[in-house]
Amino acid sequence: MNYTADIAIVGGGASGLVAAITAKRLNPNLSVYIFEALDRVGKKLITTGNGRCNITNLKLDLNRFHGQDVAFCQHALSRFGYEEIKNFFYSIGVDFIAEGDKVFPSSLQASSVVDALRFECERIGVNTVLNCKIEDIAFGKEYVLHSCNDTVYAKKLILATGLLSGGDKIGSFGNIFRFLKSSGFKTVKVSPSIVQLKTETDFVRQLKGIKVDAKATLFCGNKAVCEYTDEVLFCDYGLSGPAILQISRQSGRDDKEYFVSLDLYPETNIEELILKIKDRAKLLSIRTLEDFFVGSLNKRLGQVVLKYCGYKLSDSVMALNDDDLAKIANTLKNFKFKVLSNTGFLNSQVSAGGIATLEFSNTTLMSKRYKGLFVVGELLDIDGDCGGFNLSWAFASGMLAAESVVKQL
Ligand SMILES: Cc1cc2nc3c(=O)[nH]c(=O)nc-3n(C[C@H](O)[C@H](O)[C@H](O)COP(=O)(O)OP(=O)(O)OC[C@H]3O[C@@H](n4cnc5c(N)ncnc54)[C@H](O)[C@@H]3O)c2cc1C
Repeated sequence: MNYTADIAIVGGGASGLVAAITAKRLNPNLSVYIFEALDRVGKKLITTGNGRCNITNLKLDLNRFHGQDVAFCQHALSRFGYEEIKNFFYSIGVDFIAEGDKVFPSSLQASSVVDALRFECERIGVNTVLNCKIEDIAFGKEYVLHSCNDTVYAKKLILATGLLSGGDKIGSFGNIFRFLKSSGFKTVKVSPSIVQLKTETDFVRQLKGIKVDAKATLFCGNKAVCEYTDEVLFCDYGLSGPAILQISRQSGRDDKEYFVSLDLYPETNIEELILKIKDRAKLLSIRTLEDFFVGSLNKRLGQVVLKYCGYKLSDSVMALNDDDLAKIANTLKNFKFKVLSNTGFLNSQVSAGGIATLEFSNTTLMSKRYKGLFVVGELLDIDGDCGGFNLSWAFASGMLAAESVVKQL
């Protein structure tokens, strides 16, 4: 089939759907098309927030976003911040509910967000072409796009194809990223973020399935890179859970040596913890080490910490001297694992890196080389922390590009 569009949007995900609705609302006379590779729009959106869709965050601070030039996203996020995102979704029937700073649709159903976006596209006359995977683009006065069956002639083009996280089934093909790179666009290394970490497994494997609240700190050598306090899940391959996902980003960016340190008593400082452990040793001196932490820590976790310190579980608590007790307290504050790698793009929630932002205007998101070409969402070298930041960037950038493109037409 041949299609002729005023605005062609490649990718019917978070940013593409919002861009299409925004553009069509601003000028209903324009022909706005979404070309989506999969058989439905919003397949990734449906999986977000464990099916609940952490749609945005009350505090969209710049320090929750990342990229080589993170200030690039400031304009989009101040022009289309929390209030504008909330109003947009309210206008299509999606109410918000907050859990702490994280915001969800009050239905707690990601599918309802996709439905509402789809209904609005239908209502206002956004054309959606499914099963149309764009493979190449001819840049010129107008844009000519090809899928294996279709040709699209477009006055303006918004690329909203995302990157590599989550795999092909939810549309993370990465082919448009590769196409732009081979066409000479500058890129920034792409790596998985918000992802589980593979670590040395001697001790974590023994703790498989245990969840604890801890402060997780990512170290590069002796330097703390970032930290986050939340749940940590021990797995046979390494570490997972919200605290680990939140600190995972940097470990995939270079070949340096990274460690995760877990503070199992984040509310207690080391001096207090030493006193607490000494007191416990006095009280429970007749126990063996196997049961030393029973009633204070998860039993298996307590045992593995003691083994990590080099003690035998059959030894008596009474045999521990002050140095031993200080060593145990220090390990509880710094239970450390070498990071080997991460569980890859397929298991990650977002891809760090992308098309370099220096190729685009931060106030319009238009390419500096090709007038009328816009890139939005994850495909650009901007990513956010876990907590609704990535969808917020997708929505804000989609709205900004739509507003800019309509002004041009
Ligand atoms: C499991 C999981 C959970 C997540 N949970 C959250 C969360 O709760 N909160 C949050 O803020 N973020 C979350 N994210 C991240 C968030 O979903 C993404 O950052 C966001 O969807 C990116 O939006 P986008 O529009 O750039 O790309 P996408 O939403 O990925 O959309 C891209 C679309 O383009 C289509 N496409 C790709 N290539 C082509 C092509 N060549 N031709 C035509 N179409 C194409 C794809 O099929 C897809 O529909 C999660 C991600 C995952 C994987």
